[in-house]
Amino acid sequence: MTSAATRSRNEFTVGDRLLISYGGTESIESPAQYSTAARGLLSDLGIDLQRFYTAFDRGRYQKLGMTRGIFFDRETFGVDRMVQGSVSDISRKALDLAPLTEAIKRDVLRVIGNRTNHFPGLPSPEKKARLARMSYRDFLLNVVKVAPGVIPLFQAMTHDLYGVGIDAIPALDCWGLEMPGFEGLKLDDDEPSPGIGRTPLLEMNEEEPYIFHFPDGNASVARLLARRLVPQALPGDSMDDVVTARLAYGKLDQPSNSTRIRLNSTVIRVKHRGDPASAREVEVTYVRGGKARSVRAGACVLACWNMVIPLPLPRVVRHTEAGARIRGQRCRWCIPTSRSTTGEHFRKPVSPMSTHRAATG
Ligand SMILES: Cc1cc2nc3c(=O)[nH]c(=O)nc-3n(C[C@H](O)[C@H](O)[C@H](O)COP(=O)(O)OP(=O)(O)OC[C@H]3O[C@@H](n4cnc5c(N)ncnc54)[C@H](O)[C@@H]3O)c2cc1C
Repeated sequence: MTSAATRSRNEFTVGDRLLISYGGTESIESPAQYSTAARGLLSDLGIDLQRFYTAFDRGRYQKLGMTRGIFFDRETFGVDRMVQGSVSDISRKALDLAPLTEAIKRDVLRVIGNRTNHFPGLPSPEKKARLARMSYRDFLLNVVKVAPGVIPLFQAMTHDLYGVGIDAIPALDCWGLEMPGFEGLKLDDDEPSPGIGRTPLLEMNEEEPYIFHFPDGNASVARLLARRLVPQALPGDSMDDVVTARLAYGKLDQPSNSTRIRLNSTVIRVKHRGDPASAREVEVTYVRGGKARSVRAGACVLACWNMVIPLPLPRVVRHTEAGARIRGQRCRWCIPTSRSTTGEHFRKPVSPMSTHRAATG
């Protein structure tokens, strides 16, 4: 049931000490901006956001005398070298230690302190529209006109957030994330920014500290969900004790459970039983242990990557009016039957089996 990204966690035993870290998604991001439903879910799961203000040690790295660093690798820069600082505000002193030519260092500093209005005469919305249509790499190369040798230093700045480099991220997103080079454009924070991604948009409105992390990141959110659905599988009753509680995987899918979580089950087909217009049941076929099996339900929510969702659906469902309607639901697709309408599934399941989700474990 738990998502691939949310379920991951890492555990290490060092001496007699258990160290827990996240293995995928880390943070309950900008919870003040969550919808009422999403905030309600956190609270239903017993997650008290105030708890993080005391649980999260914000000064930890400074207390340990640690700072940010930039690693220059041999493959890209000809030598392995660690330099203190971060790319977006690297100092001249730190740059002096970097394995870059003097001309490239000068260009890096030019980006960081850039006060040039590269689009003179254009109002802020039009500047933003231009930035939304070019990558940050193109902005640096073609607008700020840095030497190509500058790019390898900036290329990985978006890796941790987006999983891709600056050649694949719009310059407007990078402005929203306060990456360097935009100051002279004097873009207006308060006006809308059409074309900007949701992540920078949330971060721009961010007034909360980045502290809403369990030790294992959002894995604990998934574990709390599993506890709520199958309480006997995960002992305890608080957001504190969930972190070290041991999950009894064998209890997730017992016939006596009102909700059953079935791991290692890849769905390969989802279809109505009978004519979609009048069907009262959905049939989900999944593969487990090399064998195809089926379950039936009054309705079904497919909550996986939306590029994949059309694959298990027969053409007839994908192209029906109902199919078109449900495509409007962001990410979550629902196969309605004649017994229920799309929205109802989310608000009020008609029976414990009215939503079924089989997920790989
Ligand atoms: C490395 C990483 C870090 C992230 N960090 C954060 C963060 O700090 N904060 C944040 O808010 N977000 C973060 N995200 C984004 C967040 O994890 C996702 O937005 C979220 O997990 C999406 O949840 P989901 O349930 O919609 O989909 P998913 O997490 O993709 O879950 C879909 C599930 O469906 C299963 N599935 C797919 N196809 C089938 C099939 N045919 N049959 C059965 N099961 C199937 C998959 O195995 C998976 O378990 C991060 C993502 C990644 C990858």
